[in-house]
Order: sequence, then structure tokens, then C-alpha cells
Amino acid sequence: MTDFSQTRATFALPEGVIYLDGNSLGPLPRQAEERVARMMADEWGKLLIRGWNEAGWYVQPRRVGDRIAPLIGAEPGSVVMGDTLSIKVFQALSAAVAMRPERRVILSDSGNFPSDLYVAQELVAALDRGLELRVVAPEDVADAIDDSIAVTLLTEVDYRTGRLHDMAALTAKVHAAGALAIWDLAHSAGALPVRLAEAGADFAVGCTYKYLNGGPGAPAFIYVAPRHADAARPAVAGWMGHAAPFTFDPKWTPAPGIERMRVGTPPVLALTALEAALDIWEGVSLDALRRESIRLSEAFIAGVAARLPGLDLASPREAERRGSQVSFRHPEAYAIVQALIARGVIGDFRAPDIMRFGFTPLYLTLDEVEAAADMLAEVILTEAWDRTEYRVRAQVT
Ligand SMILES: *Cc1c(COP(=O)(O)O)cnc(C)c1O
Repeated sequence: MTDFSQTRATFALPEGVIYLDGNSLGPLPRQAEERVARMMADEWGKLLIRGWNEAGWYVQPRRVGDRIAPLIGAEPGSVVMGDTLSIKVFQALSAAVAMRPERRVILSDSGNFPSDLYVAQELVAALDRGLELRVVAPEDVADAIDDSIAVTLLTEVDYRTGRLHDMAALTAKVHAAGALAIWDLAHSAGALPVRLAEAGADFAVGCTYKYLNGGPGAPAFIYVAPRHADAARPAVAGWMGHAAPFTFDPKWTPAPGIERMRVGTPPVLALTALEAALDIWEGVSLDALRRESIRLSEAFIAGVAARLPGLDLASPREAERRGSQVSFRHPEAYAIVQALIARGVIGDFRAPDIMRFGFTPLYLTLDEVEAAADMLAEVILTEAWDRTEYRVRAQVT
């Protein structure tokens, strides 16, 4: 039995805020603050360069990867940390298309995050070998899988609508067509149980500043199925992915296994914050997390619908077909979200007309969710959003 009041107590949440944006940036875990301060004073400050060996900085990308692995149903030793998610998408996609040299099509969907699509577009152009990026509607993905496909590049949970792909069924279909499946877990890791190994995923990538609470700019992870790990070509070949980095060999020889996906010097400060944030997951049942996430999101939908039956739900109505977020459409979505933030209810806006709310049982309670639903209804019914200050777009929306 997971006690979410205990996990909540580990976060430094500001007074008077109901935080429904942990799907974009998780809040600060108290122990991350302490751990980074201690690391700076004791390791960086006192050990200096010796920290690479004596404080384990060098092996940290693998050590942290091994802690992410159980959260995404990955085999031990199959995950490594580093860089940003966009870079890890590039590496996974490059490696996968190289494993299907006779095939021409990368299949993705129109609900995918722009960065993933941009990486694919530019890889197609750079390789200049007749590859094509084919983008279909999310509901048409299954039908679009045929034996022309080299690789599918899909994000399991749609960042705008929260729509959840059936990873196991789609991966099985991809394999039956002789193709490879890459899964982006940006909105899955820490949001719901993920079973990469069971589904037979070939590659997966994700970020750690969303549901995993690693902090702004926390490094990404990449998973390579063990059956591919000694053959995959990482595309960005750096010295830390070399089999023997400290021989300073001018010729690149990939490290065995997942280590080859490392590129350069790891972000030790950021990994230290993330490592502390991951402590919170010890003893958390992902099935219990999923049940609570559904309870909270259903309460939110019901609370909003009771007062605003006409508001357009952009997310699937069935809980099993959603990740851990709920979105609504409204022509004044931006101003409404700003008015909510001014009242201490933090959600976010995604162009052109989406109001997005994330549900994170580690620190969110049912009372808060009900209060947030009331506040959303209130802001819309009273047109409290209709003020110039709420319409001015900030640089980051
Ligand atoms: C959040 C997100 C990203 C962001 O990539 P970064 O390189 O970490 O900025 C990429 N893809 C998806 C699907 C995302 O949800």
C-alpha cells in the first residue's frame, strides 16, 4: 500500500498553490536541494577532480539509468542517462534506421511532440538516402504499419490530449511487419506503469524533469533492448561512449552495450538532483499510482462537467485511454490558464486552444483537484479571464 501523504511531504511545494503542471516540470523534492548542496560542498568542493572516481561521478549515468529501469519496465543495464531528450531521439532514430537499411519509411503521428518530428525531418534530409517521414493521425497509426516501414517513432502519451497509445499491441504489429519500434516516454515515465521489455520495444527515450521531478534541464534517458545493444550505432559518437575512453584512441570503438549511447561529460549536478528525486519512488507501487491518477483525473473531469457541461474535453473520456493529464479546448484557453495561475491553480496552455492539467499522485490530493475544478468553472462562468493582463503572451507559454 503506497502512502501518498508520505510522498507529498517530501516535496517543497509553495503555500497557496495547487500544482497541476508536474507533467511539464515536477516540483522540488526537499532531498534534492540538500543532496545537491552536499555534493557541491563535499564532492566538488573537496574532492575536485578526484570526484570522478571517488564520488562515482563517472558511473553515475548508468547508476541512475538502473534506477529508472524499473519505472519503465526495462531490463537492468539497459538504460543510460545523458543530454536532452531531443538528442536521445536523434540517437535512437539514427540507430534504428541503420538497422533497416532496405526500408524507407519512418512512421510517426500528428500528435507527436514537435522536437521528435523535427529531429526525424532533419535526419531524413541529412542521410539523403531516400528516407521519408510519414505522419498520420494518432488513430490511424495501426493501419499505417506495413512492410514499407523501417521504424515507428511514437510518443506513448500525447502531450496535448493525453491520449495513450497501446504500446504492446502496436509494437507487436510493428514487429510483425519487420520494422522496429521506438517509444518516447516523456509523458509516461513516472505517470503510469510502462512495460518496455514485456512489450518488446526496441528503443525508448524520455525526459526526467516532468513526472520524475529531476528539475529544469534534468538529463534524458535512453533505453536500447539488450538484443540490439551491442549492434546499435549511437550516431553521436563521443569519448564517453568509447570502449576505453582513457586510452584516448583516435579511432572510435563503441563501448559494449548501452554505454555506447553516452556522449560526453555527464551533467553531474543535474544527475545528483535527479538521483535524490528518484529516492521518492522507492516503495511506490506504479499500479497504486495509476489507480490514484485515474481517481484524481476522473474527479477533475466530473467536477468540471458538473458546472460546465459544455466545455470541450480534448482528452479521451475513458480513463484507460489516457495518460495522467486532462485537457480541455477553449478559444480563450491562454487567458483562462493565466487567470487560474493568478489564483494559485497552475496548469498550462498548449497552442492553439488547449488547457492542460497534469495529475501527479505523489503530491496532489483529491481536495486540491476538486478545488481546481471549481476554480476553472468559476473563471469561465464569471469571465474572470477577460482582462488584458491575461492575454499578453509570455516568452514561454
Ligand atoms: C517534453 C518533450 C520533449 C522535450 O525534449 P527536450 O529535448 O527535453 O527539450 C521531447 N519530446 C516529447 C514527446 C516531449 O514530451
